[in-house]
Parts: sequence; structure tokens; C-alpha cells
Amino acid sequence: MNASTVGHWIDGAEVPGDSGRTADVFDPATGKVARQVAMAGPAEIERAVASAAAAFPGWRDTSLSRRTRVLFAFRELLDAATDELAEIITAEHGKVVSDAQGEVARGLEVAEFACGIGHLLKGGYTENASTGVDVHSIRQPLGPVAVISPFNFPAMVPLWFVPIAIAAGNTVVLKPSEKDPSAALLLARLWQRAGLPDGVFTVLQGDKEAVDGLLDHKSIKAVSFVGSTPVAQYVHQRAGAAGKRVQALGGAKNHMVVLPDADLELTADAAVNAGFGSAGERCMAISVVVAVGAVADPLVAAIAERARGLRTGDGRRGCDMGPLVTGAHRDKVADYVAAGERAGAKLVVDGREVVPDADGSGFFLGPTLLDHVTPEMSVYTDEIFGPVLSVVRVDSYAEALDLVNANRYGNGTAIFTGDGAAARRFENEVEVGMVGVNVPIPVPVAHYSFGGWRDSLFGDTHAYGTEGVHFFTRGKVVTSRWPDGTRHGLDLGFPRND
Ligand code: NAD
Repeated sequence: MNASTVGHWIDGAEVPGDSGRTADVFDPATGKVARQVAMAGPAEIERAVASAAAAFPGWRDTSLSRRTRVLFAFRELLDAATDELAEIITAEHGKVVSDAQGEVARGLEVAEFACGIGHLLKGGYTENASTGVDVHSIRQPLGPVAVISPFNFPAMVPLWFVPIAIAAGNTVVLKPSEKDPSAALLLARLWQRAGLPDGVFTVLQGDKEAVDGLLDHKSIKAVSFVGSTPVAQYVHQRAGAAGKRVQALGGAKNHMVVLPDADLELTADAAVNAGFGSAGERCMAISVVVAVGAVADPLVAAIAERARGLRTGDGRRGCDMGPLVTGAHRDKVADYVAAGERAGAKLVVDGREVVPDADGSGFFLGPTLLDHVTPEMSVYTDEIFGPVLSVVRVDSYAEALDLVNANRYGNGTAIFTGDGAAARRFENEVEVGMVGVNVPIPVPVAHYSFGGWRDSLFGDTHAYGTEGVHFFTRGKVVTSRWPDGTRHGLDLGFPRND
């Protein structure tokens, strides 16, 4: 076992923890403990927040052009570090290297968007709103903010928030997932090399104790959380009760509706890519295919053929699909497969029998396809977060739509069809935050915003794009008059504009 311990990043340097608590970090492809991660206690939480609070006044007053220069430098460094970052992600998360590179690329988009912060922060100005009176609006940063991220995107999800928060003049404390903590430290080093002053970006490693410390701390002004729905609900409630601005993105169960006129080859490819990519550990993964009418039999056959051809193994070996993140999670997903079979679903491809291309005893489960799944089965109701694709058969578009809209989650969905009018109707009628038309994982580009409906998001504001800029800033409106020698005398009435 490698005894190295991943530390925190405070005041511009990696610091070891002094709480006495650490956790194992695994290499999921071999099943071995690769290193430890420090788990913050009260002293480290205080130190991290104090550093972010001390850095805020100077960063807030740093000119927009200087802040933008740091953003541009960070963008360049991040781009150049893509392979290094991807290797770190694969070693701790398990996803295949090309997938890890893809997540960095999507995070990079947000850094690029944040380079335009000068334009994004522009306010409005109205001359002569009343006689001799002008009005203008400005947006100001909030202060130190917390970002709490999940294991499944150790680079991309922090990058959804951090560049915009920093560009807007805030300081950030990032609490990454304890399962894959190292990517955050590389991001910290890149920010430093880009010229970001110490304390503007802090990494606090840990678990619930670190999260609770941030949620309760009076100096933290806003919280962006991404993770499972029960924790998102908890974070939303607790941070809200502490008077903070909060956006908490939760879990998902994404449906792909397939109409009888869909292009079968394209649809089967999309279902496999979106169902089994990253071993299904994506909040925008497709986990339910809703097959309408006669398309079901040929579609299931086409998906099964492709799923059987996938190579599962160590993400560093050019495989299609890597392991799950921990042994416990792999076992939980396998239990869902067994429960689905017991409840009457037809097991078409059984990933539990996979022989992975890997050394050691990694946390592997191969692509799994269940047909004839019905809405009361746990394999349908629960977010499984693994490489398990369920097919629900329905008779009509209306039945498919009702199914999607009745689900507790509303993160992403897709429709596959050759009929523009049907797609347009779906786009209008479906109650889900992100919709794809013949696109299975409709993660919005950085100048739109990311967010689900219902139990997939708590709070009002979506992530990144202009909604992200709004989340990390507060509006202020200034009404001003400059003396020009005229006097209007006393008038105690409520001011009217004329
Ligand atoms: P998780 O909820 O277990 O953990 C998320 C973060 O919360 C981590 O930093 C973790 O340390 C912390 N945490 C865990 N339990 C906590 C508790 N009881 N109190 C306080 N903090 C706690 O989620 P995960 O397993 O890391 O990530 C997978 C989940 O994230 C899935 O449900 C997935 O759908 C969701 N996710 C959602 C989105 C989205 O945009 N909606 C994106 C990515 C992942």
C-alpha cells in the first residue's frame, strides 16, 4: 500500500490534515488501496474558511481585466493539463481515459465562458429615469462560497462552478468527494500557476463533517452542491436555514423515449453509449429506454448485440467501460439486477458474468440489459448509478410521456424519432430540465445552464451559463441625482417619477 496522503489546499499550498482522520482512496480497476485522503475536522474547516474570507476583499477589488487575465491563463493551463488530469481521474474514479479527457473538455468550456466575465457582469443604465435622475444596476460578488462535489465528475463538476464564482470576484472553498480527491489538488496548482492569489481557491478534503462545517459557517455566503438526492435535500435545507443562497443538484433517472419511426442503428448506438459510458455513473446517463410499440423487439436485439461486444476492464487499457467506484457500490448495483430478475424482468445481458481485462480484483460489473421492466420494480424506481439499462415497453407516445412526467426525477430525457412534429410536441410537454432530440445525453453547452426539475434540483438557479453568473452575484440598483443648482423644496410624499 502506498502510504501517501492527499492533503488540503489552503493559503496556496498543500497541507496535511491534523484531525487524525483519513480515509482510503482505491484504484477501482485493481481493487487496491492506492493512498489515503485527509478528512477535515473543525480546525481545518476554520482555517480553510478563514483563508477564503481573508482573500475576499482583495480579490473582489481586483480589476476585471486582471481577473480575466487569470481566467485566460487558467484556461490555457487546464487545456495543456488535460491528459495529466485524465490520468488522475481514471486512477481514482475508474472511468476510461478517453471519457476522463471528455469530462475535462466539458469543464474547460465553462472556464472559456468565464473568460467573458466582463460582458457577463455588465449592468444597465437609464439616463433621465426621472427629471435629472439616472438609474444604473451592478452585480457584485457574494463573498466566500462553498462548492461540494460528487465522485462521478471530479474535474467537470467543480469546473461547472469554480471559474464563474472566481471570475465574478468570489473566493471558493471546494469540498471534493473523498472517493477521488486528487483532481482538485491539480486544479489548485493550475489556478496558482495562472496567477490566482493565495486563498481565492481552497480545497478542503473530507466527508459529512467538512460539509456540515461549511453549511453552518457564517462566513460562507452560498453553497453549490451536486450529489445524490437525499444529501441534496439535506444540504438545501440546512444551508437555507443558515441563511445562505443554495443550489443543490441531486440524482436522476433519465428516460429515452423511442418512437416506432426512430433510426434503429442510431438509437441503439445512443442507448449503449449513454447507458454504459462511465459504467452508468453519470447523472445524465440513460437508465430507462421507453420503447413505443413495435420498435421494442428489434431495439432490444440491437442494444444487446452491442452491449455484448463491449470490452470491460482497466480504463488505462483502451477498454470501453471501466469499473464501478467501490466494491460496495458494485455489490449494490448487482443486487438491483437480482431484484429486477426476481420481480419478473427479463435479463437479456448479465453483466455479473463479465471477465474484465484487468489485474487484481477490481470493482467490475459488465453492461447489463433488462427487458420487460415495469414501473413498480426497484430497478425502475431507484437511481441505480451503474451499467444497467432497463427497457420499459409501452403502447403509445402518451403512455411514454406520462411515465417520464410521473417519475420523481426530472434531470434529463431524450426522444428518438424521425418525426419533427412529435419531437416538438415532446419538447413542449415533457416536464424535465434538459431534453435531447436524437441526442441521448443533452448536457447543455457552457453558455446555457445545467439543471433538472423535481427531485433532481433543490433551489431555483441552475448551474453555469448566465444562471451561474446570477447565482454567484447579487444585484444592486443605484438611483442618483447630481446637484445642478435647482432646488425643489420640501415634499414628504412618496417619490414619483416625472
Ligand atoms: P453523494 O451525495 O454521496 O456525495 C456528494 C457529496 O456530498 C460528496 O462530497 C460527499 O462527501 C458529501 N456527502 C455524502 N454524504 C453526506 C452527508 N450525509 N452529509 C453531508 N455531505 C455528504 O453523491 P456521490 O455518490 O458522490 O455522487 C453520485 C450522485 O450524484 C448521484 O446521485 C448522481 O445522480 C448525482 N449527481 C448529480 C448531478 C447533477 O447534475 N444533478 C451531477 C453529478 C452527480
